[in-house]
Amino acid sequence: MESVAREIKGSFHWYPVQKTFSIVSAKDTLKFAVGIPYMTRNGRTIDLSAAPELDNGHLWIAENDAKKISNKIEAAKPVAKPAEQKPAQPVVVKPKTPKQEIAGTREVRTIVIDPGHGGKDPGASGKKSQEKDIVLAVAKLLRKNLADEGFNVKLTRSKDVFIELRQRAMLANQWDGDLFISLHCNAIDASEERKKIIQGYQFYVLRAPESEEDKAIARRENAVATLYGEKNAKDELSPLEWFKLEARLEQYKQTSYLFTEKLLDSFDGGKIKKMNTGVGGAGFMVLVGAMMPAVLIELGFISNEEDEAYMMTKAGQQDLADRIAQAVSKYKDAVHTYRETLGRN
Ligand SMILES: [Zn+2]
Repeated sequence: MESVAREIKGSFHWYPVQKTFSIVSAKDTLKFAVGIPYMTRNGRTIDLSAAPELDNGHLWIAENDAKKISNKIEAAKPVAKPAEQKPAQPVVVKPKTPKQEIAGTREVRTIVIDPGHGGKDPGASGKKSQEKDIVLAVAKLLRKNLADEGFNVKLTRSKDVFIELRQRAMLANQWDGDLFISLHCNAIDASEERKKIIQGYQFYVLRAPESEEDKAIARRENAVATLYGEKNAKDELSPLEWFKLEARLEQYKQTSYLFTEKLLDSFDGGKIKKMNTGVGGAGFMVLVGAMMPAVLIELGFISNEEDEAYMMTKAGQQDLADRIAQAVSKYKDAVHTYRETLGRN
């Protein structure tokens, strides 16, 4: 493997805990993971004919794959035992998806609103209310606002029912959404004193968490899956899952951030305050499968009396829906303008 790194005049990095490795040259960043049959080259996924293997402290990749990385080099030999050695096979190339514009670069039409929790999963509880009811009420008002503006609007649930986390993104994909908005209320489990202090809204995108605080919020939102018996449920993404996600995240990262910018603008000056910078990132399971720009909104802290009181009133819910709708419109305009600069309109 290191000979490949030398051939492309790059440096080789090995991450033993994650079992991933990368080769960085002036032009290219190649990333691999032991046991996973694809790599990324500058963020784009490329199939490998075989998963890299770790054997006796040596990393091996198949000859075909080594050739792909640099066709000049003397490739590492495949690790397959002689008995299993198969004739060199052509690299399997997955059929390309039909040439159509992906969500985030095409005009914004379909908005998927995902009211968190529901049914047997109440989400976080305040003194007088439950998260699942607040987010559903806001979602319905938001649906009306957006429909009035001509958007095609879909809700992952429009009543008090339980839907698995992964199912929500799958629905969004089925509807071919342009934007996925998951609605939640934040909460802390702490002393009454702390609950009085900790309040505010925050917007989350799917990215590796940069703070313990963000990690904890994702763990709480993800706990649904482990609590209510989803198959293979976990409350945190493994390093390998992050690796697998990376290429896809890259596709929607800019537009997800663009939408959070619009949210920051429209939430400014509202009754509920901004928490910290207003933007965070972590491994929210509900966002993982969405093939579109996706943002999770924590409307406010249900554990804080002030925030809770506001989120419980019809006026407060309407105000929150108005602000999100405004951000969606601004986002749509921004994407439209961007397309114009590319001459796509
Ligand atoms: Zn939640």
